[in-house]
Amino acid sequence: MAEHEDIEKFLDNTIQYAAPEALLSQSIEPWEKAYQDALNGNRYWDQVAQCRTWLKPYTQVTEGQWPQVRWFLNGVTNITLDCLDRHINEGRGDQIAYIALTEQGLERQLTYQELMDEVDRIARGLSALGITQGDRVIIYMPLVWQGIVAMLATARIGAIHSVVYAGLGASALRNRIEQAEAKAVLTADVTYRRGKAISLLPMVEAALKDVPGVAHTVILRRQPESILLPSTLDWAQWFSQDHPRVPVAAMQSEDPLFILFTSGTTGSPKGALFVHGGYSVGVPQLLQQSIAYQPGDIFWCMSDIGWIVGHSLIVYGPLISGMTTVIREGAPDFPQPDTVWDTIERYHITKVYTAPTAVRMLRKFGEEYAVKHQLDSLKLVACAGEPLNPEAWRWLHDDVGHGRFAVVDNWWQTETAGPTIGTWPTMAARPGKAGKPFPGVDARIVDAMGQDRPPNQGGALILTRPLPQMFRDVWGNHARYEEYFETVPGSYLSGDVAVLDTDGYYEMLGRADDVLNVAGHRIGTADIESALVSHPAVAEAAAVGVPDPLKGESIVAYVLLRPSHQADPAMERVLIHHVRQELGPIATPSAIRFADKLPKTRSGKIMRRVVKAWELGQDPGDLTTLDD
Ligand code: AMP
Repeated sequence: MAEHEDIEKFLDNTIQYAAPEALLSQSIEPWEKAYQDALNGNRYWDQVAQCRTWLKPYTQVTEGQWPQVRWFLNGVTNITLDCLDRHINEGRGDQIAYIALTEQGLERQLTYQELMDEVDRIARGLSALGITQGDRVIIYMPLVWQGIVAMLATARIGAIHSVVYAGLGASALRNRIEQAEAKAVLTADVTYRRGKAISLLPMVEAALKDVPGVAHTVILRRQPESILLPSTLDWAQWFSQDHPRVPVAAMQSEDPLFILFTSGTTGSPKGALFVHGGYSVGVPQLLQQSIAYQPGDIFWCMSDIGWIVGHSLIVYGPLISGMTTVIREGAPDFPQPDTVWDTIERYHITKVYTAPTAVRMLRKFGEEYAVKHQLDSLKLVACAGEPLNPEAWRWLHDDVGHGRFAVVDNWWQTETAGPTIGTWPTMAARPGKAGKPFPGVDARIVDAMGQDRPPNQGGALILTRPLPQMFRDVWGNHARYEEYFETVPGSYLSGDVAVLDTDGYYEMLGRADDVLNVAGHRIGTADIESALVSHPAVAEAAAVGVPDPLKGESIVAYVLLRPSHQADPAMERVLIHHVRQELGPIATPSAIRFADKLPKTRSGKIMRRVVKAWELGQDPGDLTTLDD
C-alpha cells in the first residue's frame, strides 16, 4: 500500500510540474531526476508498471538484452482492462473518451462507459465468428470511432489486430492480409475526404481476390445505399445480434497485441509486433512525458489509426491515461483553410499532436486564418513524423501563438511505439532540434564501427537501452528483426542520422537508408519500385525523394520501359495512376522520368544516390562501384 501511494504521488508530481499555465517556467529538475532514475536499474519502469492492472502480478521487471529482451515476466493482463474497466470501476464511466468529428462537424461523443459497451458488443460478435486468441484481424477502416472499437474488441479477446491505413491501395492491403495470414477483415464502405465519399470496397475486393484464409469480412455501411460485397457481413446487422458473452482474454505480458506494417528499403513491408504488457506500460508514460497531460485537457491527435501515432496517441496512450481525445476524419483544410483553428476553438482543445507538414500547410494559408479564432484554450502543439523546420516552429510559436502555447518536436518511429527523443514540455525548445531523450531512453550517435561520434558530428542514431513498449519481433521474419541489433550488438539501430550538440539536444538529419518521408509518412523505395515494376510496360524502376516545401519530400521515379512501349506524357499519367491504385494516394509519384539505363553497382543494385543526383542536378560523388 505504502508503495502504491508512493507511485501515485510520483505520477501526480509528473502532472504537477508540467502545469500548462506555466509550462516553461516550471523547474526542469524533476524531469532531470526522472531521467536519471530511469537510467538507474529497473525501479522506474517498475513504478510505472505498478499503476497498471495485473490479473497476476509480474515477478520480474525485465530479462535479457536486445534482441531477446522480455518485460514484466509472468505477469498476466489485458491492455483493455486499463483502457476501459479501470476507469469505469473508478467512477469515470461518464467521462468523454472520444469526440468524433467528420468534415461536417460532430458525429458522436462516446463516454468511457459507452466505449466499453461498444467494445463488448464487437468482441462478442468477433468471438461468434470463431476469432480466438492469437488470430489476426485486419482493420481497414477510416478514422471513425468504430475503428477504435474494432481495435479494442480484437485485443479484448486476445486476437491480434493489424490496422491498415484506409488510404493505402489494393496491393498494399493484399500484402498485409497475406503476411499476417488474417482470419478476418473489418472494413467500411466509404471514407469521406474533401466532401467526397471514397469507396474502399473496390480495394477490399481486389485484395481479397485469390487470398485464401480470410474466413470473414465485415463491412461497416456508412451509406445506406452501399451494396455489400458477396459473402461479407453487414456490421450493424451482425454486431447487433445477441451473441454470447465473452470473457476478457488473460494475456501473458509478452503475448502479441498488434502488428503494424511499416516500410523498409528492401522486400515487403515489415510487420512490427507489439505485446500487451510492455506496450501498456511504456506508451502512456511517454505520452505523458511528451504532452504533460492534465485532467481537463482536450487532446486532438491529428494522425490516423493506420499509423503508430494513432495506435499509441489516439487509442492506447490516451485511453490508459483516461484522457478525452478528439478524432477527425477528412482533410485538415476542408471545408475551410481555417478548419484546424476553428476546431480548436469550438472544442476548447488544449493540446494538439500533429505533423510538421500540417504546420507548413497552415503557414502557407497565413496566420490571419488563425488569429481570427479564439485560441486561448491551446497550451501545447507537439509535432512528430519528420523534422519540424525552424521557420515552421517560429511561425507557429511566434506569429500564431505569440508565445502563449508551447511548440515541441518529438522524434520516434513505428518500432519505438512512443515519443523517444523530444522537447520536454518543461524545456526551452531549440527550433530545428528534436530535443533530448525522454526518461528511460538512452540514445547515442555512432560511426559505422559503432564508436561514439563527438558532439556536433553526425552519425547513426542508436538506442542502447531496451524500452518496454518497443517492438518485439518482425512478424514472420525474425531474421529481419535481428538485423536491427547487428551493427552495434545489443543496441537498436534506428536507421536515422542525427547529431548531438554540446547541450545534449539532438538534431535529426534524415534517414540513413532509402526510406522516404513524404508528408510524415514513411515510404520504402522498394514499395514504389515494386508497384511500378508490376505494370506490364515497366522493366525497371528507381524511386528517390526530392525536397518539397510542403511535404518535406516528394517522390520522383526513374523508369526503364520494356521494348515497344512509348515514353510519353500519356505513359507517365498511366504509371502515376497505377502506383496510386496499388499503394494509395500517399505514395503517388510527383513525376516519372524515363531513362535508357539505370545506374547500378556491379552487384546489380540500383544506386539511388546517383539517380537523386541526376534529379537534383548535383555531383553524384564517388562512382567507383558503378557498373557502367
Ligand atoms: P514511422 O515509423 O512511419 O513513424 O517513421 C519514422 C521515421 O520518421 C523516423 O525514422 C524518422 O526518419 C522520421 N521522423 C519521425 N519523427 C521525426 C522528427 N521529429 N524529426 C525528424 N524525423 C522524424
